[in-house]
Amino acid sequence: MTVRTRFAPSPTGYLHVGGARTALFNWLFARKHGGDFVLRVEDTDAARNTEEARQAIFDGLNWLGLDWNEGPERGGNFGPYYQSERREIYDAWFAKLVAAGRVYEDGGAWRFRFDRKPVTMHDLVCGEVTIDYRDESNTPDMVVKRSDGSYVFHFVNVVDDLEMEITHVIRGEDHLMNTPKHLQLIEAFGGKAPQYAHIPLILNPDGSKMSKRDAGAAVGDYPRQGFLSAAVVNFLALLGWNPKTEQEIFSLAELAELFTLENVNRAPARFDLEKCKWMNQQHLLGISVDEFAAAAKPFVAEAGLTVPDNYAAVIAAVKDKVRLFSEVPAAVDFLLKEDFDDDPEAVAKVRASATSAGLLGGLAQALATLPEWSADAAKAALTDVAVATGAKPGQLMFPLRVALTGRAHGPDLGDVLNLLGKDRCVKRVRNFATKLC
Ligand code: GLU
Repeated sequence: MTVRTRFAPSPTGYLHVGGARTALFNWLFARKHGGDFVLRVEDTDAARNTEEARQAIFDGLNWLGLDWNEGPERGGNFGPYYQSERREIYDAWFAKLVAAGRVYEDGGAWRFRFDRKPVTMHDLVCGEVTIDYRDESNTPDMVVKRSDGSYVFHFVNVVDDLEMEITHVIRGEDHLMNTPKHLQLIEAFGGKAPQYAHIPLILNPDGSKMSKRDAGAAVGDYPRQGFLSAAVVNFLALLGWNPKTEQEIFSLAELAELFTLENVNRAPARFDLEKCKWMNQQHLLGISVDEFAAAAKPFVAEAGLTVPDNYAAVIAAVKDKVRLFSEVPAAVDFLLKEDFDDDPEAVAKVRASATSAGLLGGLAQALATLPEWSADAAKAALTDVAVATGAKPGQLMFPLRVALTGRAHGPDLGDVLNLLGKDRCVKRVRNFATKLC
């Protein structure tokens, strides 16, 4: 039997991390088992659906690389894949309930008559869950068709899972308590229930429930903030799934190979955006300079910096120092323009040493007279100046870095010397020495 999973978003808001993780787990499970991943749009709530939301969901899935083999824009044998276009199918299934005497009219609406018995589900993550339907006062018969003729979520969700031959329903834990109702309907239809796996809630680092307004909640913000989709996928996968190894960095292909529902945690997951940024840096270390440079370019341009001819070399110098593409402009600005900001703390540190100004003045002189420019030649000149004045070369390294970059940390000093070239280095060291006096 072919594994068939589905992601069934309601297009009423942007794609949030919880939804994206649900989509990812369904995608991974289908991939792992050589099955189909179906996208079904649950757009029955005409008043709340928006085209922007639908687009944001599709864009988010595409950005994450979670391609669906069946659904809107792809087609398939089980369409249409928008619930709003499946009215006739629902009517036909509703007629089965009428014929079986399982629904009755109540004030214009139609209620489904629950079978009055305990219903136990065997969830692949949560284990056994039983709802006892014998007490009618706790479990009143549910409305499946409203008086305006529209069908409720439970009904269309179940019909579509049966119609589309879904084998595994992987969804958020918020739907756990709906599932016994769904099993009741499936039994009334004489259908075969899919297997269910309800995945844990996502909490903020402080243990509160994550809301749509929390930072990092919207998948659409991640590309804009300079994340790699591979890193976000990696991060989402570990929100509730435990690889059972020390390894933390995985590609999408590796995840598809390793993913199992058995290793989905029962306990809620903790969302930590800092962790996601750390993961992003780990993934950035693994991509080429060219790939990095291309992805960082819009951020550099957006910051108003001019992309220089030696852009690839500039990027190579900072590639391993940033966590996000959005951090690139601040990391490279001193290489691309002269009026960059100094870090006052770094400058104060240099100023605190009485010898700095003199040493830097001497260094500017020595650099200016170098016949041929290279980082090695500049460093040799620095050693000479230090030795001549009885200082240690190390004493000059930090002031030189601050003179050239305006800050205490950054790319390798050799890279900075090479990238700036002789004229700019001499000028910056000279100006900085003057500023210190
Ligand atoms: N449209 C439902 C939701 O977004 C789908 C639930 C399910 O996956 O069954 O919550």
